[in-house]
Amino acid sequence: RRCVVAVDGPSGSGKSTVSRRLATALDARYLDTGAMYRAVTWAVLRSGVDPQDAEAVTKVAGETDLKIGVDPEAPSVTADGIAIDRDIRGPEVTAAVSAVSAVPAVREQLVALQREIIEAAGRIVVEGRDIGSVVAPDADLKVYLTASAEARAHRRSAENATDISATAADLARRDRLDSTRTADPLRQAPDAVELDTTALGVAEVVARLQELLAG
Ligand code: C5P
Repeated sequence: RRCVVAVDGPSGSGKSTVSRRLATALDARYLDTGAMYRAVTWAVLRSGVDPQDAEAVTKVAGETDLKIGVDPEAPSVTADGIAIDRDIRGPEVTAAVSAVSAVPAVREQLVALQREIIEAAGRIVVEGRDIGSVVAPDADLKVYLTASAEARAHRRSAENATDISATAADLARRDRLDSTRTADPLRQAPDAVELDTTALGVAEVVARLQELLAG
């Protein structure tokens, strides 16, 4: 049976881990839309284009052959046939992704691709920033995960083995850029269920989402 779950929220809110586990539990596919914006950013940097140059960024996005795997146990991303799963998490891509994802033509292109993937999958957990509001407003369940700034920085620095204060500063910078951009700012869908994960473990969050789905 068709089932689309939209999981939105900032970095470090627990979105990725929770979305993958939930997808596995539901025997559904999994789509990481942040990985798609990161992949385009990787292609932009590879081509030597300035991430702030919207026109050049749009051109690179249009010319890059992006493929994203939707197995929750083994997510994968390739650009022009090159596996970039590791590179898209690196500091260069992370520093430039907010600028690239603010380009309206890039968002149009990726949102269209995301809708195709959702349609083809039928049962899928989709994580991002604008899934409940823009990509899949008719999702069966929309959740917005939050966590304290401290918990988020903690999780991210544990994942990436980076310094906590640098991570906290980077998260604050990206939050600001992502929420204040003029083109299509990322906003919580009004009908999303908000869940604060600061004091919750992954299993507890997944169980809560399954309860919400069961109605
Ligand atoms: O979730 P993740 O941290 O990998 O997302 C990387 C960046 O991609 C975000 O900071 C945001 O700029 C952008 N993004 C977006 N829309 C989405 C998912 C991610 O603009 N649906």
